[in-house]
Amino acid sequence: MKSLKQLKFNNTFHHLGKPFYSEVNPQGISRPFLVSASQQVAQLIGLRPDEIHTPYFIDLFSGQALLPGFQPLAMVYSGHQFGFYNPQLGDGRALLLGEVDCNAEKWDLSLKGAGMTPYSRNGDGRSVLRSSIREFLCSEAMAGLGIPTTRALCVIGGEDPVFRETVEKSATLVRVTQSHVRFGTFEYFHYTEKPEVLKRLADYVICHHFPESLESDEKYPHFFGEIIQRTAVMIAHWQAAGFAHGVMNTDNMSILGQTFDYGPFGFMEDYDPGYICNHSDVKGRYAFQQQPAIGLTNLNALGYALSSLMTNEDLIRKLQEYEPTFHACYAGLMRKKLGLLGAQDEDHDLWSDLLQLMENAGANYTILFRTLSEYSIDDTNTELRELFKDQEEFGAWLGRYNGRLKQQEDTGPSRQKRMKAVNPKYILRNYLAQRAIEKAEKEQDYSEVNRLLALLYRPFDEHEGMEAYADAPPDWGKSLVISCSS
Ligand code: AMP
Ligand code: MG
Repeated sequence: MKSLKQLKFNNTFHHLGKPFYSEVNPQGISRPFLVSASQQVAQLIGLRPDEIHTPYFIDLFSGQALLPGFQPLAMVYSGHQFGFYNPQLGDGRALLLGEVDCNAEKWDLSLKGAGMTPYSRNGDGRSVLRSSIREFLCSEAMAGLGIPTTRALCVIGGEDPVFRETVEKSATLVRVTQSHVRFGTFEYFHYTEKPEVLKRLADYVICHHFPESLESDEKYPHFFGEIIQRTAVMIAHWQAAGFAHGVMNTDNMSILGQTFDYGPFGFMEDYDPGYICNHSDVKGRYAFQQQPAIGLTNLNALGYALSSLMTNEDLIRKLQEYEPTFHACYAGLMRKKLGLLGAQDEDHDLWSDLLQLMENAGANYTILFRTLSEYSIDDTNTELRELFKDQEEFGAWLGRYNGRLKQQEDTGPSRQKRMKAVNPKYILRNYLAQRAIEKAEKEQDYSEVNRLLALLYRPFDEHEGMEAYADAPPDWGKSLVISCSS
């Protein structure tokens, strides 16, 4: 483990040169203070745990100071936003500070909220405390759930006023991932008609992140196929966890298939396939049940951008792998959630009928699966039954479930244990995040952020004394409005 000054940097993206970015120094936020930092992420980049409590850490990640290894840059990209192509996006408020070399892995450190860049358009280059806390907690909560995601090292708060719907406080967030290249990065070079630059970008990404494609005799189709695979797996995890991303624009799609750019995301409470977590998404383009199809739409957009690298036949052949990959992964996850061993044809009906019953009853998605994990053949299962209005229909479903469990001769504690290891007790409910944000904003008390962080790193454990955090939201927490504003 190293101190900040000992971290080794190998800024490979910077080495790529000018067409890919603009060099920009962070503006920094004023009178910075630590809101929260993740020891797990510090460890990931090889940073000594005590370093996060030093003033230097705060100076660096509030954008006040630069570490000798930093070469800050704003990446250029474009992307499809709500279905429409936006030719010029890019890091409007984030800077890639540098890439830490640690245990044969490289980690981008990206400072979000660092000030204006050539890509800020009408924005102020700032982030607010509220959205920074949300991104921080959700990145780490997703990691706790085992869902592919970018990570977050810390949130630093500042005193600058930031104007959104109201005046809010500034903050920075440090995002950590192996690469910040997005679908939109490729789209930018395709639409600006720079096939040579696009090829360099593809070769760079392949060399660093998809070395298996180098072994393949069809390098680019293999590479595209890998992205398709990873994206399908990521979205299958979202669907199984009841997670809605909220803004699946192609500039928010990571080339690595990680959940990327947390804005108005939400974990579903009552099961509702039409759930829209983003108040600004009036038409429900990114509603929960649309996510798998939007994943394919976005991959199509990426495929189009990569069309100078492979034939249409290759593109189509690879895109056809998306649906089967998604369905196989989702089915595997749902079988695990139900505690099923092996695969039977009727399994699909078992979970889709349960989801229908849940929808009819307005049952809480997370609570239902956790309660089902405690299901016992020898018990009355009152708590479980009470989650459904129509006892008769649910009773019939339970009968089928029972039959399936009996076949695998695994009805008891070992199944319960397996199910609890995949059905979280604790998720980042919007109202929990909101409570932590209000404490931070109004009382400068960050203890609730830290409490949630610790809880969500181990979402499948019981956590004595924390049971209330597993409850469905109180009335005030049901109607929280989360928009794109951040
Ligand atoms: P997002 O909706 O966060 O994915 O952002 C979409 C685009 O808007 C990206 O190019 C961002 O860098 C840019 N952007 C978002 N908020 C701001 C801001 N406050 N200042 C400058 N650019 C921003
Ligand atoms: Mg974005």
